[in-house]
Amino acid sequence: MFSSCHLDSNSILISTQDELLFSSWIRERDRYLAEMIMMEGRAAAIHQICCNECGIGAADYRCADCFGEDLCCSSCLVSNHKLHPFHVVKVN
Ligand SMILES: [Zn+2]
Ligand SMILES: [Zn+2]
Repeated sequence: MFSSCHLDSNSILISTQDELLFSSWIRERDRYLAEMIMMEGRAAAIHQICCNECGIGAADYRCADCFGEDLCCSSCLVSNHKLHPFHVVKVN
């Protein structure tokens, strides 16, 4: 696919395809930022007190590499990661 190119005011070569991608990104920027900020905290588990797996421990941990946004306790976290020692765990 060919697209046209032009020089902007700073003499940077910009293609129309780049401009389309950038404009679509700008429209979604706030949504992505809100989602990233939410995932830094407790996300949808904001009211979760107990671990979803055992129902006993405190829901304080989330793995950034495992799928899902549920929080779990330290015991379940260790148990779930015996075979995944390099996952990045976040304390919430
Ligand atoms: Zn647990
Ligand atoms: Zn994990």
